[in-house]
Amino acid sequence: MNKKKILLLATGGTIASMESEEGLIPGLDAEYLCRHITGASENYDITTKDILHLDSSNIQPEEWTFIAKNVYEAYKKYDGIVITHGTDTMAYTTSILSFMLQNLSIPVVVTGSQLPLTHPLTDAIDNLRYAFAMAASGVPGIFLAFNRKIILGCRAVKVRTTGFDAFESVNYPYVGTIDSNGLNINHKVLPNWDGDCTLTDTLCSDVFLIKLTPGLDPKIFDMLLQLNYKGIIIEAFGAGGLHYIRRDLISKLEKFTQKGIPVVVSSQCLYERSDLSIYQTGKMALKRGVIQAYDMTTEAAVTKLMWALGQTLDAEKIIKIFGTNYAGEITI
Ligand code: ASP
Repeated sequence: MNKKKILLLATGGTIASMESEEGLIPGLDAEYLCRHITGASENYDITTKDILHLDSSNIQPEEWTFIAKNVYEAYKKYDGIVITHGTDTMAYTTSILSFMLQNLSIPVVVTGSQLPLTHPLTDAIDNLRYAFAMAASGVPGIFLAFNRKIILGCRAVKVRTTGFDAFESVNYPYVGTIDSNGLNINHKVLPNWDGDCTLTDTLCSDVFLIKLTPGLDPKIFDMLLQLNYKGIIIEAFGAGGLHYIRRDLISKLEKFTQKGIPVVVSSQCLYERSDLSIYQTGKMALKRGVIQAYDMTTEAAVTKLMWALGQTLDAEKIIKIFGTNYAGEITI
């Protein structure tokens, strides 16, 4: 049998963590993880590389760029890449990688676990096995593998702090499931890639995400202007509602759009799409030039805005970028 060549890039996370006096910290290396995957060496030709040793709370835009560069430098030499990563910010990483690395010719699969690999009841070994199976599938793109499910990278959301079923594919079907038939890929929902792989890794991290609460004082937005934020995302109510009586958020947002600072409005609801054209409050905001996130996850909206602002500060171009589906992140 010709074994598939898989690269395992380790970045830390619970999966690689060990007990310390200060709590769990990443310490196990990629080679150690690899030795514990049942049947790994029999089925795959594996190369390991430790690139970071971080709890994913410490994974930030600089690390995203670093991870993307590692993938870009390696993708031509392997049939697939598995990245181990902490679960806390994994969905942000899979979202940004989906924008930074388009038209990949191989699968890049991110996984982790809720319990360290060394725990007797760990979910790490199973998750690694699912990730390796997906990495060997030949299906190109960025994916997240967890608890017998394969999720398109830009649709993943962490929905549980401790449960093994920690991730969901939000507003999008699962790309794959694992059962006694093996790995079942739903080919109909895979994005259409076209052209050569590109690395677009310049980011602008001056993006602020704010969740509305009833009565939120619009003055907070003046502060964001003073702090020179280049883009704002508002998780508004329901389909995209914002208050304007007594505390007029909507007029305040115009201050941003007039200065060419993009304001993206999404929903606090996890499921289904925001649509500002339904209610008066939404329509008022649309007239002031806000951008709709529709059915994007918050993780995808935040990273897409950082990525878009990394390419241009031109408001019209940002609007165009948000109106484009790059990796399956939005249903226009
Ligand atoms: N705090 C850990 C991390 O994100 C949690 C995990 O990996 O599950 O690195």
